[in-house]
Amino acid sequence: MRDLRVASGVIVEIGEHLDAHDGERVLDATNAIVAPGFIDMHVHLREPGFAYKETIETGTEAAVRGGFAAVACMPNTHPALDAPEIIAALLGELAARARCRVYPIGAITRGRAGLEPCDVAALSRAGAVAFSDDGNTVMNARVLRDAALAARQTPGVFISHCEDEALKGDAVMHEGATSRALGLPGAPAIAEDVIVARDLLIGMDTSRPWHIAHLSTHGALEYLEHARAHGANATCEVTPHHLLLTDEAVRDCGAAGKVNPPLRTAGDARALRDAVRDGTIDVFATDHAPHTDAEKSGDVREAAVGFSGLEIAVGAYAHALDDLPLLRFVALLSTNPARILGIPGGTLAVGAPADVTIFAERPWTVEPSTFASKGKSTPFAGARFSRRAIATIVGGRVAFSLDG
Ligand SMILES: [Zn+2]
Ligand SMILES: [Zn+2]
Repeated sequence: MRDLRVASGVIVEIGEHLDAHDGERVLDATNAIVAPGFIDMHVHLREPGFAYKETIETGTEAAVRGGFAAVACMPNTHPALDAPEIIAALLGELAARARCRVYPIGAITRGRAGLEPCDVAALSRAGAVAFSDDGNTVMNARVLRDAALAARQTPGVFISHCEDEALKGDAVMHEGATSRALGLPGAPAIAEDVIVARDLLIGMDTSRPWHIAHLSTHGALEYLEHARAHGANATCEVTPHHLLLTDEAVRDCGAAGKVNPPLRTAGDARALRDAVRDGTIDVFATDHAPHTDAEKSGDVREAAVGFSGLEIAVGAYAHALDDLPLLRFVALLSTNPARILGIPGGTLAVGAPADVTIFAERPWTVEPSTFASKGKSTPFAGARFSRRAIATIVGGRVAFSLDG
């Protein structure tokens, strides 16, 4: 048992039996794990433009309750995060309103329309830590390659949302026995695989680090391993829902199971869990994508795509991989996303920012009505999980404490 002292927003001392100084708040972490602050590198905060789905306040409150001291927010806002003045305006709002650290991800193409590369150097100077058209795939390979070439001198990984638009068509779920039984249009797994292969080739050709968002198929894993064997500087993330659920969730919970890429087969989910265990997968990321109840109810064909994830994540990851060593668990949630994004965090070293997540085995039930997020839809409603965050410290400030 060791204690950790923070002051002025940084870790100042680690040792056994530290005495509390006058005025210091003491958090009891007996029977709990004290980890570097968790980082979710794939979150939709919805501002600017969609505050009816989520706000900076509700999204970052959901983050700290879920154990996240930092998130990276995707640029599919209105307007899109495709110009330096838009990034600067968002950073101003975040400084005043966010309850955790938030790192903006800039768009790759103007308006995320896939036609014309953004000025990624200008976005980087304004504060974008990475680049993605997430929600969309940059379908024109020439445009994506030009954007990557133009970014040669610019830090920041490219993050690919991988769904071939033509192969996907009007799909609302994975193509397979369940989609056929339900009579719903499905997207084949190769709609993801071909874009993963293509984008990793573009990453190698342009000598850029590349990150695959929400990888969901066993085929995509094979292309990732192939590309790495040929020198690709490639990383990838997996979501809680792709680790634990299958396309049958669309049958069982309707629109709450609608997400892109879609929930796949039991074989895909098993391959993803194995790929976490063997180190092929680098990052746990939620793809937190809140929508209103009205948008997530009714006909699966019409419903919005995606759902909330920040507040179920720690429980769901541990549930999916209860045999994962704790050091690996923390690496996937903190060390690795910090390294991939090139942001502070991921360490509890003296002198590091005092971003700390304390978690423990505390059985709990997912009750969406208690979410801080405005998005109450989740296919995990009612699920029983054992692990959860019990405190989140951001820059030395206790942003969340389960026990008050
Ligand atoms: Zn996406
Ligand atoms: Zn996303």
